[in-house]
Amino acid sequence: MSNVVILERGEWDEKGKWRGLQSAEIGRTAVVCCPNCGTMFSLVGHVILEDGVVTAYGQSPSVVCPAKCGFDENVQLLGWNP
Ligand SMILES: [Zn+2]
Repeated sequence: MSNVVILERGEWDEKGKWRGLQSAEIGRTAVVCCPNCGTMFSLVGHVILEDGVVTAYGQSPSVVCPAKCGFDENVQLLGWNP
């Protein structure tokens, strides 16, 4: 979990890619397609820094796949523009 997994911007449901998500309620965040299992999940609750590094406030910064496939990594979103 010490390495940073770099994810590129991609299309919907491409494994290991991310897409921006804008919502009036939650602001700007991203949806990630799990590199392991392809599950789509949002990064709501995480903070995404200007350089695309995903972190969080008051909880573990790592991104954990909700399908419990074992993906639990520190993530950076390549090409993130806040
Ligand atoms: Zn997964």
